[in-house]
Amino acid sequence: MSGAEGGGFAAPQGVGETSGRRERIRANLAALRERVDAACAAAGRRPEDVTIVAVTKTFPASDVRILAELGIGDVGENRDQEAAPKAAECAGLGLRWHFVGQLQTNKARSVARYADVVHSVDRARLAAALGQRARLEGRHLDCLVQIDLDPAAQAGVLGPRGGVDPADALAVADAIAAEEGLSPAGVMAVAPRGADPAEAFARLNAVAAEVRDRYPRAKAVSAGMSGDLEAAVEHGATHVRVGTALLDDRSTNVG
Ligand SMILES: *Cc1c(COP(=O)(O)O)cnc(C)c1O
Repeated sequence: MSGAEGGGFAAPQGVGETSGRRERIRANLAALRERVDAACAAAGRRPEDVTIVAVTKTFPASDVRILAELGIGDVGENRDQEAAPKAAECAGLGLRWHFVGQLQTNKARSVARYADVVHSVDRARLAAALGQRARLEGRHLDCLVQIDLDPAAQAGVLGPRGGVDPADALAVADAIAAEEGLSPAGVMAVAPRGADPAEAFARLNAVAAEVRDRYPRAKAVSAGMSGDLEAAVEHGATHVRVGTALLDDRSTNVG
């Protein structure tokens, strides 16, 4: 957009766009906080027990900076190629970086450099690679076991989004716990397409309880996105991962 030019005053180029973007994100964040507050009230939970992770994929570092100025402390990315340079550009903002996308073992080295939380640990081999890299980098990573809630995946059809069969969640948590430099911090899931999110998140919450029984500090339940966060909060989400409700439609962005 460049429609603010030619108004006859000497504002530096781009300033109008930046403040417009800031106001837009501010309004989105206010509306999002209202949704989270209402969902917490309905569930008898406290809003401070639900962390908003702003998923900034496809959006520029300038948006991350705006979010930080508006009080967001947690940001999420799903592709290392995009996340690594963005995290570097935003160093010094005091943000916690969450890696929420499917993760190839060969990207573990890069992700271990900037991520504070990895939501998508779904196999022992990945835990081992992250552990090795975290130790080499002198870093500590909180790791969530990603659960595949799609019954089709449990029937042997591979799910498109990653995640382990709920029956194998404890084995992955054990693999994380075995790695110095990693801590099992909870579970994560994406509601299967076309399924009832409340039913899916109720199943996730049961898996979360099993993991917590063995690892009492693994309290995180990462569930819920822009379209289904109310159902997630109703069923115990401690982290909601929100992109479009904060930053608008990604379809106009590259990536
Ligand atoms: C993109 C993404 C989100 C955010 O989704 P929205 O619908 O834009 O809120 C959440 N979780 C994961 C794993 C994602 O890749």
